[in-house]
Amino acid sequence: MATVSLQGLTKEFTGTAAVDNLRLDIADGELVSLLGPSGCGKTTTLRLVAGFLQPDGGEIKVDNEIISSPSVLIPPERRNMSMIFQSYAVWPHMTVGQNVAYGLKFKKLAKTEIEQKVERLLRLVHLETLRERYPNELSGGQQQRVALARALVVEPKILLLDEPLSNLDANLREEMRFEIRRLHEEFRITTIYVTHDQAEAMVTSDRIVVMNKGRIVQVGSPKEIFDQPKTRFVAEFIGKTNILVGRMEKENRVSLADGLGVTVAQGAPAAGDGQICVCVRPHNILLTADDSEARAMAEKGYNLFPAVVQRRIYFGDAVDYLLEMPPHPMTLRVVASPSRQYEKGQKVFALAHRDHCVVVGEG
Ligand code: ADP
Ligand code: MG
Repeated sequence: MATVSLQGLTKEFTGTAAVDNLRLDIADGELVSLLGPSGCGKTTTLRLVAGFLQPDGGEIKVDNEIISSPSVLIPPERRNMSMIFQSYAVWPHMTVGQNVAYGLKFKKLAKTEIEQKVERLLRLVHLETLRERYPNELSGGQQQRVALARALVVEPKILLLDEPLSNLDANLREEMRFEIRRLHEEFRITTIYVTHDQAEAMVTSDRIVVMNKGRIVQVGSPKEIFDQPKTRFVAEFIGKTNILVGRMEKENRVSLADGLGVTVAQGAPAAGDGQICVCVRPHNILLTADDSEARAMAEKGYNLFPAVVQRRIYFGDAVDYLLEMPPHPMTLRVVASPSRQYEKGQKVFALAHRDHCVVVGEG
C-alpha cells in the first residue's frame, strides 16, 4: 500500500530546470503515466522518485513520509520500489527462473517459498513453460516479461517503468500494453509509467500526466485528456487534431482568422481580445455530398463547411481526407468510414457538431 506525493518537486541541471515545481498526488494502487516529448523531464522525475537523484527544491512523500527533499534522501535500496528501464537488462547467463528468483536472493526466504513465488509470477506473465530457457532463446516480448516478473516478485510498494516497451517492435508493443494493464489489475501496485507514446498511455493508465518543458500541463483520465484538452500542446500531442485559430466573437461563437466562423461547445471562455484555438478531431467530422442532408444536420447543431477534397488516402478501415475551403486558406483533416467515399476534386460538406469543437488555450 503506497501513496506518492510530489510537492513542488524541482531539479536543475547546470542552472536549467529539467523538472520544474511538479505537484502531483498519486493514489494507492493507481497507475499514472508521465507523457510528453523527449527531454520534457520524465526520466528525471522517475529517477528523483527512485532516489537516484536528489531534488533541488520541493519534496517527495510516500505514505506521508518524506523520502526526498534538498535535505533528505532515503537511498534507493530502502525505498521498496522496483524500477524497469528502457533497456530492460535481464541477466544473460541466468535462466528465466533464475532471473526471476534473483530479486528474492537478498530477502532471506526459505527455498520452498522462493520456489512458490517464482512459480506464481511465471504463471502470471505466461512464462511457466520457458523457465529453463536463457534470455537469448526468448523473443523481445518474452524478455520484457522476465523483467516485469523480476520486478514484481519482490512485491514492491511502488513500480517505476521508464519507456519499458520502446525496444519492442510495433506488434509486440501493442500486445504488451494490454499485458501491463492486465498485470496492474492483478497486483494493483502504485505505478508511475513513463512514455512518449500516447496510445501506450491511453491503454495502460488510470490517469495521464502530460508534461512539457519540465512542467505538468494537464492531468486527467485518458478520456478527459483526449476529449477536453486544455491547451493546444495537449490537443496536438494526444492524437491527430485540426486547430482552427480565431477570436471569441460572442457566447460560444468563434470567428476564425480565415474569415469563417464556428459555433463551439458550452463552457467556452467569454469574448476577449486574445487569440484562441478550436480543437476538432478528424474522426469527429462527418462528410456528405448531399445538400439537403447537410442543411438538416446544420439545424441540429452541426457547423457546416462547404469544401473540396484535395487529398484522399485509403487505409482500409478508414479514409483520411484533406479538405480545402476556397477562397479561404483553411484546410481540414477528416478521418471517415470507408462506407461512403469521395473523389479528389469532389465538392462536399464537412460537418462538425458544436460539442466536438473545443476551445483550447494557445499554450
Ligand atoms: P525525458 O525522459 O522526458 O526525455 P529527461 O528527464 O531525460 O527527459 O531530461 C530532461 C532534461 O534534462 C533534458 O533537457 C536533458 O538534457 C536534461 N538532463 C537530464 N539528465 C541530465 C544530466 N545528468 N545532466 C545534465 N542534463 C541532464
Ligand atoms: Mg527519458
